[in-house]
Amino acid sequence: MKEIAPLTGHAHVVGLTGSPGVGKSTVTGALVSVYRNAGLRVGVLAVDPSSPFSGGALLGDRVRMQDHATDDRVFIRSMASRGHLGGLSWATPQAVRILAAAGFDVVLVETVGVGQAEVEISSLADTALVVVAPGLGDSIQAAKAGILEIADVFAVNKSDRPGAQEAVRDLRMMLAMANYGSDDWKPPIVSTTAMAGDGIADLAAAIDKHRDWLTASGQRDQRRRDRVREEISAIALGELRRRIGGLPGESRLDELADRVLAGNLDPYSAADELIAG
Ligand code: GDP
Repeated sequence: MKEIAPLTGHAHVVGLTGSPGVGKSTVTGALVSVYRNAGLRVGVLAVDPSSPFSGGALLGDRVRMQDHATDDRVFIRSMASRGHLGGLSWATPQAVRILAAAGFDVVLVETVGVGQAEVEISSLADTALVVVAPGLGDSIQAAKAGILEIADVFAVNKSDRPGAQEAVRDLRMMLAMANYGSDDWKPPIVSTTAMAGDGIADLAAAIDKHRDWLTASGQRDQRRRDRVREEISAIALGELRRRIGGLPGESRLDELADRVLAGNLDPYSAADELIAG
């Protein structure tokens, strides 16, 4: 990471999230085609959730990426989430960093929406793309899960299916109720049929528009600073946790715990001592 730090890269990082089965992988594959046709180099990180229940579906996802498997200007990598809260691996930001340093123009990070993951994707990505599909009650779920707050662009996929227009209408109504300021970005809703590639050019255009807005508004720098702050504190907290833990019977923590148990020290003072140490 030290070596690549000076190679900042200018990749636009797009996070895709949504419930299993809405078509995230298909949308990702179709977006890769659009970007490749525009002559761009594309990196794809697919973050596997730790849940064993979606293992089969994820295997299927990889198969859907096979169109691009032999293209040397596309890099696809799946990563385990290693039980990290929210499903995004701690290593994902580092992998994004490497792809950006390697000169990829766009990095797509795909993750299954499992509660907290939507929130994490918004801190990881420049543009957060939320994919929903008709019939799954997804648009309603979206509001509940706080997805509305993090989405920069909505894709209503499976537009060929019944209920697609209703899903668009539901989302539009929810967005209308949200309180956007005049300078705020208002998330566009794009209808797609990823399987046929329909609407994907429009989706890429919406992502481009958001990228331009980020630049013009100064929000890109703001978001990236927030992201790096998160990254640094996560690394520092992990290291502190490791140091505090020590080996059982050997750590300062054990000694302090004994003193608290014996009534010679209160936990607050113990914590102060631990931090000072
Ligand atoms: P993910 O779990 O969100 O990544 O969803 P997938 O990309 O694996 O897609 C789930 C299923 O939906 C697959 O069987 C796809 O072929 C299908 N699918 C994806 N996009 C569309 C679409 O636009 N229309 C229809 N009818 N099916 C789609």
